[in-house]
Amino acid sequence: ILVKDEGLEAVALYLTGEFEGILKESNSGNELWVGAGVSLFDLLLYCRDMGFGGLEFLAGIPGKVGGAVCRNAGAFGGEIAEHIVAVELMGEDGAIKTIERGQLEFGYRFFKRPSGSVVTKVLLSLDEDSSESIREKIVHYLVEKKQRQPLDLPSAGSVFKNPTGDHAGRLIEAAGLKGKRIGGAMISPKHANFIVNTGQARASDILALIDLARERVKQEFGTTLELEIEVLG
Ligand SMILES: Cc1cc2nc3c(=O)[nH]c(=O)nc-3n(C[C@H](O)[C@H](O)[C@H](O)COP(=O)(O)OP(=O)(O)OC[C@H]3O[C@@H](n4cnc5c(N)ncnc54)[C@H](O)[C@@H]3O)c2cc1C
Repeated sequence: ILVKDEGLEAVALYLTGEFEGILKESNSGNELWVGAGVSLFDLLLYCRDMGFGGLEFLAGIPGKVGGAVCRNAGAFGGEIAEHIVAVELMGEDGAIKTIERGQLEFGYRFFKRPSGSVVTKVLLSLDEDSSESIREKIVHYLVEKKQRQPLDLPSAGSVFKNPTGDHAGRLIEAAGLKGKRIGGAMISPKHANFIVNTGQARASDILALIDLARERVKQEFGTTLELEIEVLG
């Protein structure tokens, strides 16, 4: 998410305590209830130690399970939605309900969540695998991510969604914008779909680079880039 410089008047919920739990019910095969407040990093460590495979593609993605469900986080061809059996939500009225996968709508970095609801837990279906094999896959994806992405500087991750059959980073690079700076923000010379903060970037610097990239890519290739990051404020 990118919050505009003027800030935002809103309530931020920090899901802690029981929302940070991982529960394997007996006789539930390879299914796990995971609290929305569990970090993806901790979930992967748990899966590695307990021999639950399938989520390794999430390695290196910052954030919590709730955020990953709401954005249908994914990488290397995998998406968390592929493993979701049910989602537990708290509605605006405080009532908690569990919705089965068949009633849930996911898309590319998209989850149609009932307005105002909070994801509290998710039931994931995983594969049986050895800890060693899971560890190797996690390391493989982490190395790949580190090679391709500018993880040494702060960013909000991929700025634009990949258009069908192409890559936003390739288009921005082909438009000659790699390394382009506005204020403290820069289109990463390593991966053009990342805008990094070189130190003192303001949200307005990042938004100006977003507009520039969109304009140039539209002009040169006729492709309209759609934001992957969420702009608030
Ligand atoms: C360096 C870097 C690399 C990244 N790489 C990837 C990648 O490879 N793939 C990918 O998909 N993403 C990637 N991201 C983006 C981001 O990390 C993921 O989308 C992550 O899953 C978001 O989780 P979060 O907890 O930070 O959610 P936030 O960013 O805090 O929230 C995302 C949205 O979900 C809502 N939300 C969060 N939790 C809940 C909840 N419990 N209930 C209801 N609504 C909620 C928020 O209000 C917001 O609208 C990357 C980001 C960075 C900085």
